[in-house]
Amino acid sequence: MQTKYIVVLGSLLSGLGKGIVTASIAKLLTMHGIRAMPLKFDGYLNYDCGTMNPFRHGEVFVLDDKSEVDMDFGTYERFLNRSLTGEFSLTGGKIFSAIIEKERRGDFLGNDVQFVPHVAEYIVEYLKGVGKKNALDVLLVEVGGTVGDIENSYFIEAMRELALREQVIFIDLTYIPELGAVGEQKTKPTQIALRNIMQFGIQPSFIVCRSEKALADSTRKKVALFANLNESAVIDDHNSDNIYRMPILLMEQGLDDAVIKALGLKGNAGDTAFKSKVNEWKKLCEAIEGTGKNGVNIAIVGKYTKLHDAYASVKEAVTHASAHNGVNVKLNWIESEDLEGNTMHVEEMLRGMDGIIVPGGFGKRGIEGMISAIGYARDKGVPYLGLCLGMQLMAVEFARHVCNLEGANSTEFNPGTKHKVVDIMGGQKDLDRKGGTMRLGLWPAAVRKGTIAYWAYESTRVKERHRHRYELNNAYRKALADNGLVISAINEQNDLVEIIEWRDGFGIGTQAHPELESRLERPHPLFLSFLKAAAEHKRQS
Ligand code: GLN
Repeated sequence: MQTKYIVVLGSLLSGLGKGIVTASIAKLLTMHGIRAMPLKFDGYLNYDCGTMNPFRHGEVFVLDDKSEVDMDFGTYERFLNRSLTGEFSLTGGKIFSAIIEKERRGDFLGNDVQFVPHVAEYIVEYLKGVGKKNALDVLLVEVGGTVGDIENSYFIEAMRELALREQVIFIDLTYIPELGAVGEQKTKPTQIALRNIMQFGIQPSFIVCRSEKALADSTRKKVALFANLNESAVIDDHNSDNIYRMPILLMEQGLDDAVIKALGLKGNAGDTAFKSKVNEWKKLCEAIEGTGKNGVNIAIVGKYTKLHDAYASVKEAVTHASAHNGVNVKLNWIESEDLEGNTMHVEEMLRGMDGIIVPGGFGKRGIEGMISAIGYARDKGVPYLGLCLGMQLMAVEFARHVCNLEGANSTEFNPGTKHKVVDIMGGQKDLDRKGGTMRLGLWPAAVRKGTIAYWAYESTRVKERHRHRYELNNAYRKALADNGLVISAINEQNDLVEIIEWRDGFGIGTQAHPELESRLERPHPLFLSFLKAAAEHKRQS
């Protein structure tokens, strides 16, 4: 079967949740038994996301195959409950490096290489290749940014050309502001944006309207008129606290059936299999909505806490675990720099916490505050979960305060430290390129029986995603273990420490990023057991 395409665009502004809309439509199609996968285009000239700042761009997501991709991939995987590969992430950088490579090889001999036809042609063929290779019924193409950006203009042109050759529908995501005390919904920005999108030769088949409150009938009518569409093709996407509700909201408006019809596919809305999948999903949504009040207090102590997107996967992993084991959670975002220099302050800010998470991160800022938070958790018996950097700092804290190795540190933060408890290991030492050279992607670990890790995973063989350059220094393994730090998992092939634990209480740090593997339908075992421990802590205090 020939792959068909759904192109999801934003015509007015970015940041409206295009990734969630794309993931939700893909989810609905898969519930219908249609083989659908999302692909994301990002217009920047970086080859991938690996060299970007999470503070500006949100979290860098990592796939099994080592690809460092946009955070929307986290949304895709969490909704679809399946792992994607790097070929589903297309960037301006990837496109142009391929074009230059082709030009140097002589593929365009005699021609001046142009956006049209060469670049557009390359994009069309790339998408068709992904569709074919994965035997997809539908490839959803999410176009990053907004129509009209210089960065994606040639890509939009390529989508117009794709539609000339293949079966394609366009879905536009727009924003309907509400003005004044009465909150009148205004469609003028959308009218102008529609004119803009049509200038590119694109007629959307559906318009998804993001708004504060439910879409008024009159608004729907107006948008439909300006978009040359039936009112039923104008979809309400009003604010919701629970992003996982989106597939249901879209389904209730008949978007799945309409898309299936427009593409000439066959859905299975009447089947019991479809109904039970929808019901399962609804139940999980309800479980999420039950959490949040009077919950256990979980602190996320990080350096990018002012931008929650930088820790999107951690937040979602906690949500999934709380929905599954019925533990209500209140997340408390704590900027680690605020914990520095004053012990009393640490006590004050962390008092009442039932669990503390130190997530991943890079660079020196805020490190000492994170170490103080870990020390507080160990001292007071507050359950602790360390993720990547959070594991490295757990080792540093233990070295300093239990092993009495004064000034112990990671060489990332103090290259001259006497006790390099965390250091650059083997293969990382002489690298002169920063892009794509960390320890990335899926790595196996052997888990020791009788540990918290084994209790959580219920397995001695696990695989987790990684993204880091530094490692626990094997030269300190014995000193740490002799003083009571439990080394509960290692990578046998490279003899690297993967998971460490405190002997008493619940404290676990993993060199991996388990949060990247948590999905609504498959919560992560480490987050489940961490929340259980936090709930127990609340009961006892
Ligand atoms: N900065 C640390 C390293 O490079 C930790 C990275 C992370 O938390 N992802 O090893």
